[in-house]
Amino acid sequence: MFTKKTVRDIDARGKRVLVRVDYNVPLTKDGQVRDDTRIRASLPTLNYLLERGAKVILISHLGRPGGKFDPAVRLDPIAKALSRLLEREVKKVDETVGEKAKRAAESLKEGEVLLLENVRFNPGEKENDPHFAYELASLADIFVNDAFGTAHRAHASTVGVTKYLPSVAGLLLEKELTQLFRLLEVPKAPFCVVLGGNKVSDKIGVIKKFSQIADCILLGGGMCFTFLKAKGFSIGNSILQADFLQEAERIMKETEKNGVSILLPDDVVVGREIKENTEHRIVSVSEIPDEWMGLDIGPLTISKYRKALKGAKTIFWNGPLGVFEIDSFAQGTRAICEALAESDATTIVGGGDSDAALRKFGFEDKVDFISTGGGACLKFLEGKELPGVVSLEERRNT
Ligand code: ADP
Ligand code: MG
Repeated sequence: MFTKKTVRDIDARGKRVLVRVDYNVPLTKDGQVRDDTRIRASLPTLNYLLERGAKVILISHLGRPGGKFDPAVRLDPIAKALSRLLEREVKKVDETVGEKAKRAAESLKEGEVLLLENVRFNPGEKENDPHFAYELASLADIFVNDAFGTAHRAHASTVGVTKYLPSVAGLLLEKELTQLFRLLEVPKAPFCVVLGGNKVSDKIGVIKKFSQIADCILLGGGMCFTFLKAKGFSIGNSILQADFLQEAERIMKETEKNGVSILLPDDVVVGREIKENTEHRIVSVSEIPDEWMGLDIGPLTISKYRKALKGAKTIFWNGPLGVFEIDSFAQGTRAICEALAESDATTIVGGGDSDAALRKFGFEDKVDFISTGGGACLKFLEGKELPGVVSLEERRNT
């Protein structure tokens, strides 16, 4: 259960409120915001605070500037996009902390918004440097963490500042955790989990966790080839993470004992290369030719997976089932999107590429919840504590 204080538990009128948001959005080649999903996701918290007369100071990272200034990832285009969405002016300063930032913060009036410069221009951010955190905190009276996508990182702007300011959750952070808790706390059975994506290493933690609580786990994507290999199939040039073969074998044995079924593909679409228009064909998993790569699940597997999802009451999906960016290898992912859209189950999706696939095929409004955090979502579902959440104040009487 979500037990942290939120913006609803504070009186923000006339206060300077430092809000950590996750505006790490994709940009176009000429530096404009290409997808504003994450900016939109922050609006409920911002509007809530602004309507109550708060002075809002926003802080976010963008890209990986590595602790120093990089003109390509300044936050000016974000300020513009946010201003359009909020329908009010968004002031922007060229530094995160320092004299200019301080002056801009101090001159804010009730209902005004200030965006600080990319927090990752400062080496102290990732090091969670207490001096940097203190400087940040000194700009405001209250701290609100609404950056779910960064909640698994203990940085100065997610954890460090909470030492110096009363710290509560934003409405997005609350919504994300409330939705994801539904998967861990008595999910309605049958509970099916669909996992794909390219790397086993990213997903092994959730596979382990769900092998204790789900009824079935359907595997696809690049990572299913490590499992197929562990079962003794030849996988040609398909992605393999050999360090995880033993672990894969152990998980399959254990789940079998617990009565959880892990389903693997019976057929796959193989291609010569990960490229548009590459030669491709459908083969049984026992006939993957040398030199070819498994790049999607095949039609028999699609029917098997659709059938498995039919009676489900809860479905969690993370990771495309194939290289959905290329049409020849998109059918498996498209079919899973369709199955989720048609399902009566509670459907929850995590992962940036899974989200992109839902949007590509036009099903983004047909699922119950899409998490805005890839890594944070998986970490949480693995059962790990998120430092950016742990550091917030507890609500009393819960
Ligand atoms: P998410 O962001 O939803 O968590 P991941 O980042 O784990 O998903 O994986 C997405 C990537 O996995 C996609 O770019 C997709 O092309 C790739 N992928 C899926 N299936 C395969 C495969 N069989 N071989 C190689 N790459 C794959
Ligand atoms: Mg991804």
